Amino acid sequence: MAKYIAILGSTGSIGKNALRVIDALGPEYKVAALSAHSSTELLAQQAMQYKPQVIAITNPELYKQLHELTGDLDIEILAGPDSLIKIAQLDQVDIVLAAIVGAAGLPAVLAAAKKGKALAIANKEPLVIAGELLTAAAKKSGSTILPVDSEHSAIFQAIQAGCREEVSKIILTGSGGPLRNVSSQDIQNVTPQQALSHPVWDMGPKITIDSATMMNKALEVIEAHWLFNIPVDIIDVLIHPESIVHSLVEFVDGSVIAQLGTPDMCLPIQYALTYPRRVAGIAKHLKLEELGQLTFEKPNLEKFRALSLGYQVARTPGTAAAVFNAANEAAVQQFLEGRIKFISIVELIEHCLNVHNVSTNASLEELFEADAWARKEVSECLNQKVF
Ligand code: NAD
Ligand code: MG
Repeated sequence: MAKYIAILGSTGSIGKNALRVIDALGPEYKVAALSAHSSTELLAQQAMQYKPQVIAITNPELYKQLHELTGDLDIEILAGPDSLIKIAQLDQVDIVLAAIVGAAGLPAVLAAAKKGKALAIANKEPLVIAGELLTAAAKKSGSTILPVDSEHSAIFQAIQAGCREEVSKIILTGSGGPLRNVSSQDIQNVTPQQALSHPVWDMGPKITIDSATMMNKALEVIEAHWLFNIPVDIIDVLIHPESIVHSLVEFVDGSVIAQLGTPDMCLPIQYALTYPRRVAGIAKHLKLEELGQLTFEKPNLEKFRALSLGYQVARTPGTAAAVFNAANEAAVQQFLEGRIKFISIVELIEHCLNVHNVSTNASLEELFEADAWARKEVSECLNQKVF
């Protein structure tokens, strides 16, 4: 039977790769719905090619433009942020691929989990902010959460070699990002252009900056904690610049099981869509003999303070993770727009965490309040020229 997929964020890096994966998978996989925030032309093109039941543009001001671009196509067009919730819960949809960037994806991801949809999740921020609520909702409805983030896909695959009680350590690998070899001194004034040139992965701008600060790995520690219900104390990070070993699981007997592959997001995207099956796909196969050697090193926690902050946040239940994430989103945007220095990203995050009063057992409303508070705090700091 055909599988119908809704892609939230189909115009982004993950979204476009997912459509390439679906093309190659053939007629068994169909596109039921697509969404974008502002790329109307690309969304209209995708709509013409894939003929989904529904498309959504989350920026409501662009509805008219999208409508004109799609002409006579018999496709329902929705507009505004809430349209994502509607497409995540469509009856026709079997799998929701969450490929939006940032906290904006949270309401729809939660809606998909509540409705019992299979949830292929690249959008790590909702898991970071509301991991407890999200995993509980999925458990209640019977929704399967299938990680797309390459490290978490690797853990998901490797962990199948044993049972949860037998896991003694999770080792998340990271390339170290574009600034791995830049000195602590020079890192202070890195430009957006330098921080955006990732040596291995071709990703959207926000996650590429997160990779440069190592905030990405910090978010991934929290993501792994919730996805696999694993204590933070047994989650390690290892820098592996070649990005071939996507992560490892150590079991109590000392065996370490890893997943390897070329650095290509098509592989984890495909595994999430075809799980529990494996089928031939478009990702290039690995030739270890051509690589010669793989290297590993410990992360420099003094240079990349975001990672140590991430560990602290991961151990703090409640609203801390929402503040951590929102302060980062706001600061990264300011950095990309040339308004703050690279080093100020982590300083702003740390400031927000220090000033915030953590509330434990937070409801969804409290998480959103904490998120909004952090964004406001970042902009007030900038207005007062504190950073
Ligand atoms: P991107 O910036 O390339 O694309 C983001 C998508 O989200 C676009 O379709 C855009 O239209 C949509 N979007 C942006 N702002 C929105 C808003 N406010 N409301 C609704 N939609 C909005 O990002 P990406 O690199 O594809 O990353 C998407 C997610 O996947 C992120 O959470 C990222 O951390 C995660 N991820 C990405 C990669 C990668 O290789 N790109 C790898 C692992 C995890
Ligand atoms: Mg990752």
